[in-house]
Amino acid sequence: MHFLDAHCHLDHAEFQAPGILDLIIERMRQAQTTAVTHGTDAQSNRNQLALVKKYPDALKAACGLDPFHATTESLEKHMQFLETHKAHLTAIGEIGLDLHYFGPETLPRQKEVFEAQLAFAEKTKLACVIHTRKAVDEVLSTLPSYHGVHVLHFFLEKKHAAKALDAGCYLSLPTVRSKDRTAIIKNSPLDRLLTETDSPYGWDKDEFGKPQLNEPSNVREVYAHIAQTLDKDLKDVQDQILKNAEKVFQWKNDE
Ligand SMILES: [Zn+2]
Repeated sequence: MHFLDAHCHLDHAEFQAPGILDLIIERMRQAQTTAVTHGTDAQSNRNQLALVKKYPDALKAACGLDPFHATTESLEKHMQFLETHKAHLTAIGEIGLDLHYFGPETLPRQKEVFEAQLAFAEKTKLACVIHTRKAVDEVLSTLPSYHGVHVLHFFLEKKHAAKALDAGCYLSLPTVRSKDRTAIIKNSPLDRLLTETDSPYGWDKDEFGKPQLNEPSNVREVYAHIAQTLDKDLKDVQDQILKNAEKVFQWKNDE
């Protein structure tokens, strides 16, 4: 593996047209990219396991119940699913808290679902990939109660970076160019950064303002930005991110 996409959703409806996913996986192979594809609810968690079975050389699976489904799905059934399939998971995700799309009245249920999965990850020694939107403080005040490896995904909040690093989190940088991303790269140890696309999201808009489809091989853009910002060789950045991935997801060298 030369490039890591630590967070994407390859079962998304956008990738369902015939042949699209085969093409995207082929481009990943050519770019030597490994991606962790994430579930968000019961159906998509099953989809991730099927994808990893189909493309074992390119994909790893993470399963989780995210804030968007925390209030509508059964936590008990989800926890049974994780227990049954834990041997096939590389991480628990996508999980987290969201106070952008959801009001504070949903927070107790969001926290119940989030914390059950943090506890499961602690027990099974799996990393957690965490969504925080307008809820970084709530997430960071919850994490100290749980041991383990915690990755904040799509992390672009410069003002929270120091606090998140102090809490021991890894910061996963997306394929979105921003001044905050530059500042985070400059001010974070490289051994605490990961790279992701959040495909199909997180890419440029076309000339009509419509978001274009993102795909894991685009993650090389984040590597180029890190190398340029730190004035390092791309190869050195690749080596360090690979080391980080091996540590976070407990991958062996030959994978
Ligand atoms: Zn996501």
